[in-house]
Amino acid sequence: MADGGWIGIAIPAEYGGGGRGITEASIVVEEVAASGAAMNGASAIHLSIFGMGPVAKHGSEQLRSRVLPQVASGDLHVAFGVTEPDAGTDTSRITTRATLSADGSHYLVRGRKIWTTKAPYCDKVLLLVRTTPRDQVTKPTDGLTLLLADLQRPEVAITPIQKAGRNAVVSCEVAYDDLRVEVSDRVGEEGQGFRYLLDGLNPERILIAAEALGTGRVALRKAVAYANERVVFDRPIGQNQGIAFPLARSHMELRAAELAVRDAAWRYDQGLPCGEAANVAKYLAAEAGYTAADQAVQTLGGMGYASEYDVERYWREARLMRLAPISQELVQAYVATHVLGLPRSY
Ligand SMILES: Cc1cc2nc3c(=O)[nH]c(=O)nc-3n(C[C@H](O)[C@H](O)[C@H](O)COP(=O)(O)OP(=O)(O)OC[C@H]3O[C@@H](n4cnc5c(N)ncnc54)[C@H](O)[C@@H]3O)c2cc1C
Repeated sequence: MADGGWIGIAIPAEYGGGGRGITEASIVVEEVAASGAAMNGASAIHLSIFGMGPVAKHGSEQLRSRVLPQVASGDLHVAFGVTEPDAGTDTSRITTRATLSADGSHYLVRGRKIWTTKAPYCDKVLLLVRTTPRDQVTKPTDGLTLLLADLQRPEVAITPIQKAGRNAVVSCEVAYDDLRVEVSDRVGEEGQGFRYLLDGLNPERILIAAEALGTGRVALRKAVAYANERVVFDRPIGQNQGIAFPLARSHMELRAAELAVRDAAWRYDQGLPCGEAANVAKYLAAEAGYTAADQAVQTLGGMGYASEYDVERYWREARLMRLAPISQELVQAYVATHVLGLPRSY
């Protein structure tokens, strides 16, 4: 994928990338998922495709030119360390702390992250840390800083988490015990990390939505093939409307979600506000992808539960997109508050 230029597709051309947008990047991950690789395949590459957005946008020229070409060429893998065991979706509650040295040259990072995907294979992690305590800032999301830290160091302990699916890619607990990070590896200004992170959240939601879409497409394709071939009571099972109609409905739901994904990607690439569109796309694609995978399991009957046909894997992988990178509940909370103007609940 790196040799073909796909990994660096959304990295600016002056840093060795393809200089394309989120529209093209989302099509790449959708097709990877739809090939049958589903989330296992897409998750192995998606952070390299979109994860460096905050560095490309807010990093110093020195940091950008040092890191981005290596990510585009596939030589440098970077993990994403935001979620913490005790903070949950309320990112302002993170407690991983970075303390600046007396001479101002480096930070020492101490704390614990959870669900850091690909940690054992990544040399670097884009790490969100607190640099000013929560009770000393005006807004709870102030005082957070984004660092590009080394991961394969004795001060970092990585423990993989057993999980339901997407097991081609590990997700880990990561403990930082006074890890040194040079100030030159800070992304942008101290205390502005949450703002920089927000810039990357919409592309992430759009790409994950595209992966959900691809996973739903391959599940539906396999279900339709099986429904045409499998004969029970002297006719193909797809002749029964109880089997055909849910598949037709899934097709329509995936088509609608696809339009939402394209709209969100287009808006992002045009520099238009796209918070609503990205959240809508993620919600609809996660639901459509999961429903298609679930219906594929149902269509294949007992064989739907067998690993041989892969649909049980699509079902387990599609389930993830209703939880991460943001849960369906929190998407609804965003829409209720920011689109409909209802009182904030989170
Ligand atoms: C396989 C996998 C890979 C991941 N990879 C990464 C990664 O690489 N880097 C990283 O930083 N993170 C990663 N994550 C973390 C992921 O982003 C979080 O799990 C996700 O955002 C949900 O947060 P949480 O698990 O803390 O849930 P919690 O915040 O504890 O929420 C638990 C439940 O409560 C609900 N809830 C919470 N608050 C409200 C509210 N106000 N209203 C309604 N419902 C609410 C949520 O919707 C959810 O259903 C990964 C997670 C998984 C499962």
